[in-house]
Amino acid sequence: MAEVLSVINPATEKLIKEISVDDSAAIANKVKRAHGAQPVWAAKPLAERIEAIKKFRNFLVEQADSLAATLTAETGKPITQAKNEILGTPPRIDFFVENVAKVIATQQVYQDPWQSIPGSGRLEEFISYEPLGVIANISAWNYPYFVGSNVFIPALLTGNAVVYKPSEIATMTGLAIATLLHKAGIPPDIFIPIIGTGLVGATLLKQSIDGVFFTGSYPTGQSIATAVAPKLIKLQLELGGKDPAYVCNDVDATSVAVGLADGAFYNNGQSCCAVERIYVHTDVYEPFVEKFVQTVQEFKLGVPTNAETYLGPLSRKRQVSIIAQLLQDALAKGAQLLCGGRPLDGPGWYFAPTVLSDVTHEMTVMREETFGPVIGVQRVSGDDEAVALMQDTDYGLTAAVYSSQRERAVGILEQVSSGSAYWNCCDRVSPRLPWTGRGHSGIGSTLSTLGISTFLQPRGWHLKK
Ligand code: NAD
Repeated sequence: MAEVLSVINPATEKLIKEISVDDSAAIANKVKRAHGAQPVWAAKPLAERIEAIKKFRNFLVEQADSLAATLTAETGKPITQAKNEILGTPPRIDFFVENVAKVIATQQVYQDPWQSIPGSGRLEEFISYEPLGVIANISAWNYPYFVGSNVFIPALLTGNAVVYKPSEIATMTGLAIATLLHKAGIPPDIFIPIIGTGLVGATLLKQSIDGVFFTGSYPTGQSIATAVAPKLIKLQLELGGKDPAYVCNDVDATSVAVGLADGAFYNNGQSCCAVERIYVHTDVYEPFVEKFVQTVQEFKLGVPTNAETYLGPLSRKRQVSIIAQLLQDALAKGAQLLCGGRPLDGPGWYFAPTVLSDVTHEMTVMREETFGPVIGVQRVSGDDEAVALMQDTDYGLTAAVYSSQRERAVGILEQVSSGSAYWNCCDRVSPRLPWTGRGHSGIGSTLSTLGISTFLQPRGWHLKK
C-alpha cells in the first residue's frame, strides 16, 4: 500500500487529510518527464512564459481567501497573516516579470575597434544566458508562497523545469500552487510537485538534476550540500538566522519597542528573518523593556481562523518541547522570565509569548535559532559591546540597528556580517534587493536581478567574422 502523509491541523490537532507520498519510482519518473519537456519550454518565446506567470499571479489575488484558509488549516498561521502573505506575493512576481527580459538578454561585451591584423577578421564577444535545465526546489513551510515563488517564478520565467517538493507541513498549499500554475498555462511536466517528508527530498537529490534550490534549516542545508557535492551542480541554500537588533541610546525606546516586538513575534517568530536577539543600550534599557513586555502581552493569542488573532499555534508539535528546553537552559543559567514561559493547555500547539532578560551568550536561546515566540533582551554598555555580541554567531542573515543617526547605524552595521542590513526597521524583504545569507545562513541569493540570473548559466561567445 502507498505510504501517506497525514496533514494535522496545529490548532485542533485533528487530521485534515491523508495525501499519498511519492515513492522512488514515481520521483524518477517525474524527473524524467521534466527533462523531456524542459527544452520545449525554454524554446518558447519569453512572452508566452510571462503570460502564464501573470495568470498565476492574478489567480493568487482572486483566490486569496480560500488559499489563506488552506494555509491556516495546515500551518496554524493566523488567517490575516496568511492572506497578507498571499497578497504580498504578486508584487514579487511583478518584479520578476518586469526584469526578466533585461537579465536574459544576450550582451555584446566587445567588438574590435578596427581590423587590427589585415585578413584576420573582426572579433566580437557576447555573453548569452541559458536555463540550468531541471531544478529541484525543496521548500520550507513557514512562508510557502514567499519562499516558493522566490524560486519557482524566476526559474520558470528563465526556461527551467521545476520539480518542487513543498514542506510536509505545507503540502496542501504546495498542491494548490501546482494546480494554479497548471491552470495558468505552465505545462504539467514543467512544474511537478513531489510529495513527502525529508526522505522524499533526499531521494529527489539522487536523481539526474541540474540544480538544487533549498529553503530550510542549517542542518538540512548542510546534509543537502553534502549529498549533492559529487554531482557538481548549482546549489543554492537559504537557511536560518539568529538575527540581532541593537537599540542605541539616541532613540525613543518605547516606539522602537513596539516595532521590534512585531519583528520578533510576527508569524509566531517562525520567520527566517524574525528578530531573535535584542541588545539595548543601558541608557534606554528600562523604558524599552517595559514597553516591549507590555506590547507582547497585548498581542491577541487565539485560534488562527479569527481575523483578529496575532499569535496562533506553532506549526510543528516538536517545537513546543524545543522551546521549553531552551527556556529551561536559560533560566538555569540566570535569565529572568518577564512574561510567558509555558505551553498553553491543549488542544493545539500553543506557546505563550515569552520575553527573557538578563540573558547571556552562554545560553542556547541567544545562540541557536529559536523559531518560536521567545526572545532574549540583553543590556549593553555601548556600540562596541553591541557589535561584538551581534557578531558572535555562525549565522548571517539580517541585522538591525535603531538610532536617530544614519551614520552611526550604518557604521555599526558595516561591522556585522549579514546579508541584509536594516536601519530603523527589521524583518523586511524587498523584491528589489537580494535576499542572501552569510555563514550558516546560506549560499547564493534570491530576489533582485541576482535572483533571476541565479537560474541561468552563461556562455561566452568568441565570434570572428
Ligand atoms: P527543514 O530544514 O526542516 O525542511 C525544509 C525542507 O527540506 C522540507 O521540505 C523537508 O521535507 C526537506 N528535507 C528535510 N530533510 C531533507 C533531506 N535530508 N534531504 C532533502 N530534503 C530534506 O526546514 P523547515 O522547518 O521546513 O523550515 C524552517 C527553517 O527554514 C528555519 O531554519 C528557517 O530560518 C529557514 N528558512 C529560511 C529562509 C531564508 O530565506 N533564508 C526562509 C524561510 C525559512
